[in-house]
Amino acid sequence: MGLANMKSVLIPAMKGGYAVPAFNVCNLEYIKIVIQTAQRLHSPVIIALHPVEIEYAGLEEISNMVRIAAQNADIPVVLHLDHGDTYERAARCIVNGFTSVMYDGSHIPFNENVRTTAQVVKLAHSVNVSVEAELGLVGGAEGSKYAHNHGLDATQLTSPSEVVEFVDRTDIDSLAVAIGSAHGLYTGEPHIDIERLKEIRRCTDIPLVLHGGSGLSDTIIRECIENGISKINIATELKIAYHQGMIHSVEKDSSEYDPRITFQYAMEEAAKLIESKINLFGSRDRV
Ligand SMILES: [Zn+2]
Repeated sequence: MGLANMKSVLIPAMKGGYAVPAFNVCNLEYIKIVIQTAQRLHSPVIIALHPVEIEYAGLEEISNMVRIAAQNADIPVVLHLDHGDTYERAARCIVNGFTSVMYDGSHIPFNENVRTTAQVVKLAHSVNVSVEAELGLVGGAEGSKYAHNHGLDATQLTSPSEVVEFVDRTDIDSLAVAIGSAHGLYTGEPHIDIERLKEIRRCTDIPLVLHGGSGLSDTIIRECIENGISKINIATELKIAYHQGMIHSVEKDSSEYDPRITFQYAMEEAAKLIESKINLFGSRDRV
């Protein structure tokens, strides 16, 4: 089918009341198992690459692997830059065939966030690439081990009153909202501000994105989807599943040294996790 842009999978999700999963990947095995599992379950899927994952795998190498895997699949696959930190990085990803980019200006003042996001949108839309932006702060650092959302106060969460102006001035396709979730593993029970999400939903008609989806309860996830979340990012839980599979491999036969065998265990565990998320998010049988 080839790569799809993000808008083309998120608008049907928003209308259909389900969410499309975005899985962070960093190597061939991750790409294969995410696309294979999504294909088996007839779900659209987003392959997300954070700058640290791109640096690990190589931009050209990994974007070509995803592009070819998508061509051979019968489902829409989005190649997405997760937490793009600069205009230049977004531009490099677009040149390398990404069909969606996130520009994350959540840590800079509102007007600067608007300015750079709008520049990324102008470039991206000229070549049919979708743009996600972030307003407010999602807790924890992407790639860090533990999520820290305890320190977040209401002033750091997405302000519904700013959403209208932000979307209007930037023309983004989707918005990552800060409603109390955090990246990494939660060390305590996270407080997700559903009332805030409902208010944001009333302020805009573009798809909303939930970061820090790993470790949230199924009930919270369902509530987020019911109240307007159309894309949910999963990074940490996929890594844990993969790691669990590697442990099984060693436990079963520690003398096995062929990566084709050891990685198979990792992919099997990853597939179970991917399937559970696709079922939970309601994106199964949507293609
Ligand atoms: Zn994130």
